[in-house]
Amino acid sequence: MTMLDKDINDLKVLISEKDIQNKLPELALKIENAFNSNEDIYVICVLKGSVMFCADLVKHFKNNVQMEFIRISSYGNETKSSNNLQAIDLTLPNLDDKNVLIVEDIIDTGLTARFLTDLFKIKHHPKKLIFAALLNKKCARQVEIEPDLYGFIIDDKFVVGYGLDYKGYFRNLPYIAYFPE
Ligand code: 5GP
Repeated sequence: MTMLDKDINDLKVLISEKDIQNKLPELALKIENAFNSNEDIYVICVLKGSVMFCADLVKHFKNNVQMEFIRISSYGNETKSSNNLQAIDLTLPNLDDKNVLIVEDIIDTGLTARFLTDLFKIKHHPKKLIFAALLNKKCARQVEIEPDLYGFIIDDKFVVGYGLDYKGYFRNLPYIAYFPE
């Protein structure tokens, strides 16, 4: 028995698996060029939504990579954003003077991106901090912040798949999709 009130057959694909996979080498190259260094990259995967994107992205790096994982609570089971953010499981190594890459699934209101960027600048003192997101909901912004690099701009739709969930479901889909109104 599933707890799900949505039918996977109603999903409409927004970004195909092929389009996502084609984007990754290009994005990885842009990230490495932005660091402009052959030193290690400390990749911070923001769980849970970034898990697929981050895992696929790091495969394309030529630099040596260290992977770290953090969790931020924001959405819960709702499809609306919240400005009540909290960092959970934030056990990170010393990142002073390191090249740090924050990997996010999507920037929506920008609250999480703002929270994370401030946190990393205040608590850690990276040599260079780059914020990369797969998706950029540019028109939904509530705080003025842009990712340094992103994969795709999307409309203000609630999307699922490729790590992004609805009530915990659909993270396993290899594409990005939405439920038409
Ligand atoms: P923000 O703080 O920018 O409003 O939202 C960031 C977080 O909200 C993302 O990391 C993601 O977990 C969640 N989020 C924002 N938009 C969507 C969406 O369209 N679908 C899903 N599943 N999560 C979203």
